Amino acid sequence: MTINDELLAELEAAANAATPGPWNYDGSYVCTMRQEDGTVYVESWNPIADALLTKNVHYISTANPATILALLQHVRELTADANKFREIVCAVVREIPHRDTSRGNAPGHGHSIAGVWDEDNGALAGTECAWCKTWHSAVDAARSSAD
Ligand SMILES: [Zn+2]
Repeated sequence: MTINDELLAELEAAANAATPGPWNYDGSYVCTMRQEDGTVYVESWNPIADALLTKNVHYISTANPATILALLQHVRELTADANKFREIVCAVVREIPHRDTSRGNAPGHGHSIAGVWDEDNGALAGTECAWCKTWHSAVDAARSSAD
């Protein structure tokens, strides 16, 4: 099974149409549940997996084991990919010296207005500097990664 935008949209629509969770099992039926002060109450009076509740039946069948396993694999791949890029960004941020003289610009840049191209830069004049934007996004990502 391939996790693609179509499947994600189908899962999202089915989840939004179904009885809101969380759900739990009372020994006979899947029912809504609530948790108060650490105690789980399975609302046996409110089963959600009845054949008459077609939206819930559709959701349960859409979120079958093959779909969930494929979704978990997809999440693991995305997480590994995100971690790889996070490590790259953090390495770049650590490598470049931080100077107080940058006045809000990326290292090696000297805009009069932080992050905005000066008037003598032709068509770029007055527009946002992509390198400054990228640098500040990388610094923010590295800081949030360290938290
Ligand atoms: Zn710049």
